[in-house]
Amino acid sequence: MDKTVGVLGGGQLGRMLAEAANRLNITLIILDKASAPAKQITAHNAHITGSFKDGPSIHELTKKSDVLTIEIEHVDADILREIEESGTPVHPSWSTIKTIQDKYEQKLHLRERGVAVADALPLSSDSEEELGSVGRQLGYPFMLKSRKDAYDGRGNFPVRSAEDIPAAIEALGKRGANSLYAEKWASFTMELAVMVVQTKDGTLAFPAVETVHENSICKLVYAPARGVSTSTFKAAEGLAKRAVSSFKGKGVYGVEMFLLPNGELLINEIAPRPHNSGHYTIEACPLSQYDAHLRAILDLPIPEDSLRIREPAIMLNILGGPKPDSHINIAKYALNNPRTSIHLYGKGDGSPGRKMGHLTVTAHSMSECETLIAPLIHEVDILSS
Ligand code: ATP
Ligand code: MG
Ligand code: MG
Repeated sequence: MDKTVGVLGGGQLGRMLAEAANRLNITLIILDKASAPAKQITAHNAHITGSFKDGPSIHELTKKSDVLTIEIEHVDADILREIEESGTPVHPSWSTIKTIQDKYEQKLHLRERGVAVADALPLSSDSEEELGSVGRQLGYPFMLKSRKDAYDGRGNFPVRSAEDIPAAIEALGKRGANSLYAEKWASFTMELAVMVVQTKDGTLAFPAVETVHENSICKLVYAPARGVSTSTFKAAEGLAKRAVSSFKGKGVYGVEMFLLPNGELLINEIAPRPHNSGHYTIEACPLSQYDAHLRAILDLPIPEDSLRIREPAIMLNILGGPKPDSHINIAKYALNNPRTSIHLYGKGDGSPGRKMGHLTVTAHSMSECETLIAPLIHEVDILSS
């Protein structure tokens, strides 16, 4: 516990990592802007103000840290390579970050290792002709995606028919040549996610959860997934572990999957860090994904039984709404709701669609959770309409 962990990025994931670190008295040094959410709750003067994409700042962080980790994958992987090669451990490895941060490369990596992913085609231009030809190959609808710097659906455009092509180019074309790819539409019955923990000894997994997205952004997480057979749980956890074990580096990985009507599972994407669909672990499991991440990168024990779900849970994201304080009103409303934990990230004023906080309800049964969360979902829906 006497190790200092340097973290690239200090958003909400860094903040919840800091909460876990504080309990074990582990020092986190955050590289991000001065007011970053993670810095607000870690009072020491060693934090670094700067961009997590900036070489000199990353080197300065390295000098102060025993091990480096990330809370966002959109960092400079080549700089992390230099650091890893000069002896400071980086988890996950630079090579993992490099592959995963390009969603098309990530798909190729998984497909080459026999892991099922949606069919995808790279685009060299963003011309109407090329998109039309992709539409004929993949069929409609298909999802146009940005290869890099994509998050919360802000790099996705569903192309429902050939008529949508000009709007798709308008939305994503400015990302430049070779920056997009197209993905076959997955007509899933449910989206699942599994948080996998890679340790020095192998991989462990939290149980599979159900995720519900609206406009490509995560809205709700049901833990464990509802109405799913034991064999699907096992298959999802097995697939997620197999996928993660193909990547180098310790820590938590969030694995997003599509469950198809025939029971088949396809991986959507992998995040090489704690993940939105793992927030529920803070209240519902003996160890949270943040506890597990720190223990994994510091080679501390993780008893497998600590990753079970102690009580069913539902997590609801609080997004920014029409007014700068819309999210605060949701949080205030939730204060009266029983069995509800409220997390606000300290990001200041909200803007529409930005993740500002989340709520987790836990109860003895999933149906009790559903009853308890219903008014909160209603409130969120009113605010975003
Ligand atoms: P994240 O915030 O999870 O990093 P992202 O911006 O990387 O999101 P994706 O995970 O690629 O975006 O997609 C977001 C959501 O859009 C998915 O969870 C799913 O609901 C929908 N989606 C993505 N790809 C497809 C697809 N091929 N077929 C159908 N729906 C899809
Ligand atoms: Mg993503
Ligand atoms: Mg995703």
